[in-house]
Amino acid sequence: MLSYKEIGLVNSRDIFAKAMAGKYAIPAFNFNNLEQMQAIIQACVEMKSPVILQVSSGARKYANQTLLRYLAQGAVEYSKELGYGIPIVLHLDHGDSFELCQSCIEYGFSSVMIDGSHLPYDENVALTKKVVDYAHKHDVTVEGELGVLAGVEDEVSAEHHTYTEPKDVQDFVSKTGVDSLAISIGTSHGANKFKPEQCTRDANGVLVPPPLRFDILEACEKMIPGFPIVLHGSSSVPQDLVQIINNYGGKLVDTIGIPEEQLRKAATSAVCKINIDSDGRLAMTAGIRDIMTNKPAEFDPRKYLGPARDMLKTLYMHKVKNVLGSAFKA
Ligand SMILES: [Zn+2]
Repeated sequence: MLSYKEIGLVNSRDIFAKAMAGKYAIPAFNFNNLEQMQAIIQACVEMKSPVILQVSSGARKYANQTLLRYLAQGAVEYSKELGYGIPIVLHLDHGDSFELCQSCIEYGFSSVMIDGSHLPYDENVALTKKVVDYAHKHDVTVEGELGVLAGVEDEVSAEHHTYTEPKDVQDFVSKTGVDSLAISIGTSHGANKFKPEQCTRDANGVLVPPPLRFDILEACEKMIPGFPIVLHGSSSVPQDLVQIINNYGGKLVDTIGIPEEQLRKAATSAVCKINIDSDGRLAMTAGIRDIMTNKPAEFDPRKYLGPARDMLKTLYMHKVKNVLGSAFKA
C-alpha cells in the first residue's frame, strides 16, 4: 500500500472547494505516455493551474499501471523542477469495479471515479458507496456518475444520452457520500459528438451542435448547492486541427465538439472539473501528420513526437486560460 501523500499528490477536495468559490473548473487531462505527461505539466506549470491527471482502464492496459504511477510521481517532481509546484491529482477515469478502484488506491492514486451509471439506480448507489467507504479510509476522493453520456471513449460507449434526472442527485450524493458527481447534460465522448443532422448551420455554413442542457445543470445545482459537478466528454474538436489532420492524409469525418463558449459558461457554475481527452488526441495527431508529410526523411521519434508534444502544450495552455479559467489559481 502506497499513500499518494508520500509522493506529493493531492486529492480533489481542496482544489474543488477553491474552484467552486472562484467560479472556475480544474482541467482533467488524460495521459498514456511520456510526451502527453510532459505537455500537461509544462502547460499547467506555465499557467500556474492545478491539474487532474487522468488514467483510464484502457491507459492502464496500454502503458502498464506501475509505469503510469511512476510517471505521475515524476510529474510532481518535474513541476517543482520547472519552478512551480502545482497541485496534482492522480485520478482513475471510469473505474468500472470496486476491485479496480481499490487497486488504484493501493497504487497511489489520490482520486477515483466509480462509474455505475449504466447500472440500475440502486445498484449504482450500492457500488458507489462501497468504493467511497474504502476510499475515504485512505483520504482518497471519489467521483460518481448519474446519467449516461453518448459516444465512445476507450472502454466506455453508449448510443444515446440519458440525461441526469435532477430529482435523483440529492439522494445519490447523500446515500453514497461521493465527493463529486458527473452528470449528463449533452456533452459526449469522442470526436464525433453529434451527427450532422442533429446540428444547424450558421451563416458561414459551419455546423452548430445542439446547446448543452443548462436547465438540467441549474436544476442539479439547486438540489445540491455548493457540491462539485463534473463534465465528461468536453472536447471542442477544433476544426483547425481536424483540417491539418485531413490535409496530411487523415480521414476524419463528421467531427463535431462542444463549443468552447458553452464550456466557459459551465466552468463558472458548480462545474469544478472538465474532462478533455479527444482534443489532445487531435493535437498530437495533427503534429505527427504534419511532420510525417512535410519532413518525410525524419525517422527519429523525437523529431515528430517533440513537435506533437508542443502542439499539445499550446492547446492545453489555451484550455486552461480561456476555457476553464484555472490559470494562476494554483
Ligand atoms: Zn468520461
